[in-house]
Amino acid sequence: MQIEYITTRTLENSKGEPKGKVRILKLVGEANATIEFKCPECGFEAKWEEAWKEPFVEGKGANQKFNLKCKSCNFSIKLSKLKKEIKKKK
Ligand SMILES: [Zn+2]
Repeated sequence: MQIEYITTRTLENSKGEPKGKVRILKLVGEANATIEFKCPECGFEAKWEEAWKEPFVEGKGANQKFNLKCKSCNFSIKLSKLKKEIKKKK
């Protein structure tokens, strides 16, 4: 299986403390991404699939952003792609 996008990030809570984390994995040809999430705000941990489109994915290519929301406390997080994660097209 080929990976289209993968990222692992530390997430900060509303006080700026790095208490959570997330891993986003999207395989080529799959409609969904797999999310492994630990909420920095409430500590809730879960793994689920998210459709690779709005409202989860916003924008296109290098400007894509990901909208995450804790399923327990509704704490919302927006992630941008990192420069090193963006593959150059040949
Ligand atoms: Zn939470």
